[in-house]
Amino acid sequence: MANVQFEDVRKSFGAHPVIKGVDIDIADGEFVILVGPSGCGKSTLLRMLAGLENISGGEIKIGGRVVNTLPPKDRDIAMVFQNYALYPHMTVEQNMGFSLMLNKAPKAEAEKRVKYAAGVLGLDKLLDRYPRQLSGGQRQRVAMGRAIVRDPEVFLFDEPLSNLDAKLRVAMRAEIKELHQRLKTTTVYVTHDQIEAMTMADKIVVMHDGIVEQIGSPLELYDRPVNLFVGGFIGSPA
Ligand code: ADP
Ligand code: MG
Repeated sequence: MANVQFEDVRKSFGAHPVIKGVDIDIADGEFVILVGPSGCGKSTLLRMLAGLENISGGEIKIGGRVVNTLPPKDRDIAMVFQNYALYPHMTVEQNMGFSLMLNKAPKAEAEKRVKYAAGVLGLDKLLDRYPRQLSGGQRQRVAMGRAIVRDPEVFLFDEPLSNLDAKLRVAMRAEIKELHQRLKTTTVYVTHDQIEAMTMADKIVVMHDGIVEQIGSPLELYDRPVNLFVGGFIGSPA
């Protein structure tokens, strides 16, 4: 586990500023959701935390250490994307173990971790299947399994449920929360869906056009939105 800090973080693409000075403090083991309309900069912020995007200004710290220029592989982070492309020619077990193999983990250790993740996610009986033989929800679980086996300090999720149908989306919200209760790994989760944010987060960060409008618990945002944007966004129908 680790805490994560954004301090006056900025990002421009060319002359175009998209993150305009963002401060966020995320405690050890906290489940934080970045929410806001499409294009407000959520993915960019997450990608900077993962090291997939350079930072134009400010500091990002993981476990108190400035990581601004660290390559992704040296950050103890695992990310689950919206388009969780599984390797079609690999079984569930191979999909989950692949990153461990790349990192030259001992075979016995890799097998142990894959078994553990499969148990946590209820994939024990599906280890020999190929992605095409799985349902959407099962594929999503395999994508999470690939992150879990790495036992990272921080999990990053970027709209992991937006490709699923409404019913499955609701079920997966509960699963991801249960997973967090169990592993207690610091989690930063991005969504444009305010219902998802309100039902899942310990703490919500409401973003708008490259800035943070408000940070608070779901209840705080609901009871005391600081401005019309937050009130309108949180209060709008799904
Ligand atoms: P969100 O995830 O909240 O929908 P993004 O972080 O993807 O928003 O994008 C924020 C802004 O940055 C948008 O205006 C988007 O067009 C712009 N942007 C994102 N990535 C790039 C890029 N690689 N080059 C130029 N502009 C980008
Ligand atoms: Mg995005």
